[in-house]
Amino acid sequence: MDPVTSTERFSFVCRRCRHEWTREYQIRRWADSSGDEYTACSIAGLPVVPPWSGILACPACGGYRVALIPRPSTKDHRGRSRHDHAGRPEHIP
Ligand SMILES: [Zn+2]
Repeated sequence: MDPVTSTERFSFVCRRCRHEWTREYQIRRWADSSGDEYTACSIAGLPVVPPWSGILACPACGGYRVALIPRPSTKDHRGRSRHDHAGRPEHIP
């Protein structure tokens, strides 16, 4: 399988100083011949730890108590919201 690269935006908050910031990552995903999946993250072409790794440092205070803010706007990430009944009005004559 060829690597798939996508640009994804992640928001973080520091639990120590309340600083919030957003960063764009290039996420590269691929699988080897045995089906194991790999993910590599980079910013501006430089490899970085994944945003979900939990070992990020706050750019404001340098603390490591950084939390990833979930983004509800992530569209159809797990292919789940597709079968909601929203957008299907009952037709009552
Ligand atoms: Zn901080």
